[in-house]
Amino acid sequence: MTNFPVADIRADFPILAEKIRNKPLVYLDNAASCQKPNAVIDSISHLYRHDYANIHRGVHTLSVRSTDKFEAARGKVRAFINAASHKEIIFVRGATEAVNLIAQTFGRANIKAGDEIVITAMEHHSNIVPWQMLCEQTGAVLRVAPMNVQGELIYEAFEALLNDKTRLVAVVHMSNALGTINPVQNIIAAAHAKGIPVMLDGAQAIPHLAVDVQALDCDFYVFSGHKLYGPSGIGVLYGKQALLEAMPPYQGGGDMIKTVSFEKSTYAGLPHKFEAGTPNIADVVGLGAAIDYLNGIGMAAIADYEAELLAYATEQAQQINGLRIIGEAAEKGAILSFVLDRIHPHDIGTMLDSLGIAIRAGHHCAMPVMDFYQIPATARASFAMYNTKEEIDVLMAGIKGLIEAFG
Ligand code: PMP
Repeated sequence: MTNFPVADIRADFPILAEKIRNKPLVYLDNAASCQKPNAVIDSISHLYRHDYANIHRGVHTLSVRSTDKFEAARGKVRAFINAASHKEIIFVRGATEAVNLIAQTFGRANIKAGDEIVITAMEHHSNIVPWQMLCEQTGAVLRVAPMNVQGELIYEAFEALLNDKTRLVAVVHMSNALGTINPVQNIIAAAHAKGIPVMLDGAQAIPHLAVDVQALDCDFYVFSGHKLYGPSGIGVLYGKQALLEAMPPYQGGGDMIKTVSFEKSTYAGLPHKFEAGTPNIADVVGLGAAIDYLNGIGMAAIADYEAELLAYATEQAQQINGLRIIGEAAEKGAILSFVLDRIHPHDIGTMLDSLGIAIRAGHHCAMPVMDFYQIPATARASFAMYNTKEEIDVLMAGIKGLIEAFG
C-alpha cells in the first residue's frame, strides 16, 4: 500500500474507536453514509456554542458571524467542485431534494407532453422517481439506457436514445449499488452535440473522485453532504448560472424573495431564489469543514488509496468459492456488491454485524438493478478513505466463516 496517512485519518474519526459486540468496529457501509471527522463535529458544536443566530437578515454581531460562516461554506463548495460562481451553489437537503428541485422547476418549465428524459438502468431511486412524477404530471416519457452484465452502460444504446424530443439526460456519475463509474465526459459531449442538457447524480462519486464541473461541462451536478464525511440533512445542487436564472423558484417563502405584496411577489437573485426559509445553517458550516478536511488530504490521493483497497478486496473476494461479485465494470469505485450461494444478503449482514462488521444488505435504492440481475438484494461492502487492508481481511474471514457455518 502507498504511504497514505490512514492511521492519522482514522484517529480523526472518533466513532471508529467504538466496539460493536465487543469487537472493533469495521465500518464498511460508507455508500449509505460516511462517518464524520472531529473537524466536522467540532465545527458544528463551535457554531452553536459561539456564533449561532439566524442568517442574512440580522445586523447584530452573531447574525453577521453566522452568515459569514454560512456563505464561506458556499465558497468552499464552489471551489471544491470548481463552479464558476457562488451563485451556482444551491443548498438543499440532499441529492434527493436536488433532483426533485430540478424536475419540478427546470422540468415543469421545459418538459412537455411527448418530450423525453433519458436516464440509465443503474440509477438510484432518487434519479428515477422524480422523473416518473414529472412524466405523470406532463405526459413526458422516461427512456432508460441499458447496461450489460458487468454493470456498464451500453454506450451505443444510450447514444441511440438521444433525439430531437430529448429534453434532459440525467445520469448517475458513480453507481451506489455496483460501483460503476459512467463515461460522463462522453455522455455530456454526445448530449451537448444535440443541444441536450445533462444532470449528473454525484451522490456516490463526490467522496471518491475529484469533481470539476467546468471541466465536465455538466449542466447540473447534485450530491449529499453525509456521503462526503459531512452532516446529513444538507446537500448541494450545482447548476449553470444561465439555467438557474431561467428556472422558476421551487419553494416560496422567506429569504427567496425581493419584495412581497398581496398582489405580486418578486424573487431574490441566485442562489437565494432557491433557498426558501431558514436553512440548515450548522450543517452547511459542517459541510464546509468536511471539505476543508478533504482538501487537507487531497482527492487524488484518496482516489488512489481507495483504488488499492478495491483491488485488494476484489482479489480476495474472487478467491472465495460460492461468492459472486455483482458489478464488475472496468471503471469502478470502491464498492463491492456480492451475493453468496444459499445465504440471503440480510443474513450475511446480520451475521457480519455479530463480528463488528457493518455492511449493507438490500436493494440499495436501486430495485431495477436487482431485477436486472434477478436477485432480491446484494450484500455491499463500501470503502472509504479510513478503511484498511486489515479490515478487508476481517471481512473476508467473516464471509468464509459464514460459508463454512452454512455448510
Ligand atoms: N444517488 C445516489 C447514487 C446515491 O447513492 C444516493 C444516496 N444513497 C442518492 C442519490 C440519494 O441521496 P440522499 O438520500 O442523501 O438524498
